[in-house]
Amino acid sequence: MSGFLFTKNATDGRARVGLIRTIRGDIQTAAVMPVGTAAAVKAMSPENVRATGAEIILGNTYHLMLRPTAERIAALGGLHRFMNWDGPILTDSGGFQVMSLAKLRKITEDGVSFQSHLDGAAYQLTPERSMEIQRLLGSNIVMAFDECTPFPVKKDDAAASMQLSMRWAKRSKEGFEAGAEHAAQNALFGIVQGSVFEDLRAQSVAALTGIGFHGYAIGGLAVGEGQAAMLSVLDYTAPLLPDDRPRYLMGVGKPPDLVQAVARGIDMFDCVLPTRSGRNGQAFTRRGTVNLRNARHADDPRPLDDGCACPACSNYSRAYLAHLVRAGEILGAVLLTWHNLHYYQQLMAGLRGAIEATRLDDFIREFEAEQAAGDIEPV
Ligand SMILES: [Zn+2]
Repeated sequence: MSGFLFTKNATDGRARVGLIRTIRGDIQTAAVMPVGTAAAVKAMSPENVRATGAEIILGNTYHLMLRPTAERIAALGGLHRFMNWDGPILTDSGGFQVMSLAKLRKITEDGVSFQSHLDGAAYQLTPERSMEIQRLLGSNIVMAFDECTPFPVKKDDAAASMQLSMRWAKRSKEGFEAGAEHAAQNALFGIVQGSVFEDLRAQSVAALTGIGFHGYAIGGLAVGEGQAAMLSVLDYTAPLLPDDRPRYLMGVGKPPDLVQAVARGIDMFDCVLPTRSGRNGQAFTRRGTVNLRNARHADDPRPLDDGCACPACSNYSRAYLAHLVRAGEILGAVLLTWHNLHYYQQLMAGLRGAIEATRLDDFIREFEAEQAAGDIEPV
């Protein structure tokens, strides 16, 4: 494995700071990945995404296989060239979004048959096909094809679902390695399932480490189980994972979730919240969540966050941002998305600095105090 390398550089308690080396560049961890669903981080150009400090983005296999298709992207030189993002790209396997978006799904041992949510056309996604699609896209971190276990779930069903995912993980590894040239330069991550059951999570980790992956993701969380249950899963699952491989918590989360997960040894995150909330007039700040639709902002000449160096906070008032949101102006979505992505990146940089200085506990106390203090009072 020459193209992908993880180095752990500092620890504070269970928290880690590291560096992931890929053929497309380095990623400082702990890292959060903006989500570029359909070959675009919504409302942002790749140059702007880079300016927020993001070093890696996520692309969605499900969306891209339907439109414009992986084959078309490959013929046009791969996803990096297609969307003009030259940094590392992680792609998901499509499994999660088939479950949440597609119609008429049918799961068999072989894979999932489904109808596109776009036009009803029939597709099949198997571990082998998912690996092929992610290779056609030119993904630098490929995710194993799995079934995201729904929540709540009976233990028997969670066990069966996890065991199916482990059989698919083995086929994913074989499918990944079948693309010899791509596999030699890029990474494949396995995904731990098992819902909220400690013994199932342990069995899943054992199965995956037996197969062997470049990194390990914890899946099946942020599906309605709540923060306490999620942190409990991390408490018993993260310590089982190999210390020398990156750990990725999929689909999480709000800033307080990221802080607590980093403290439990997680290295990577992806979340649609900064972009989706940005398009809905909602900002994440040091002082918690701010809704620009709230009437109190309409006459407020101050910036959204005077401690933030992003374009939205540097150049515009709350009153203007609130106006853009109410008027449905595209610029409002752009500026709030930019701010949110910038804030998430700043938060991760702050966490990395605190871990390097072994003052993570103090950092978390200060973070929680600022969040609890709430947004500043109106003028
Ligand atoms: Zn800002």
